[in-house]
Amino acid sequence: MSSFGIGGRGIGGFGAFQGAREAASAARDAAHRASDAAERVRDLQIRLDHLTLACTALWSILKEKTGITEDELLARIKELDLADDGVQDGRLKKKAIICPNCGRTMSSTHLRCMYCGHDNPSGQGFDAAL
Ligand SMILES: [Zn+2]
Repeated sequence: MSSFGIGGRGIGGFGAFQGAREAASAARDAAHRASDAAERVRDLQIRLDHLTLACTALWSILKEKTGITEDELLARIKELDLADDGVQDGRLKKKAIICPNCGRTMSSTHLRCMYCGHDNPSGQGFDAAL
């Protein structure tokens, strides 16, 4: 009698069937994680576009109305960067906020609460981009 038949211990037996089920489950989990990552990238792109637009508008207004120079801007960027965390790394640390709808902690960088879907209370102004 062959050991390769259905239900046997060889190739095509229960062990192989279980392995295939686990592989399929792992593949579904990986696909779900990839989908989540893609959604996160889209959210980050929206934030980046908003920040770029807000900064461009602010810089345009400031130059027109005050005559502030590029050197002054760069000096202030350095000052704020160092004041944030003592490290000149070209970025501000992200802060956690409390969702006004469900009370859970959410990232200030997310457009919506990941628990209840409530919009980020930071609004659509400059703070929403930070
Ligand atoms: Zn919430």
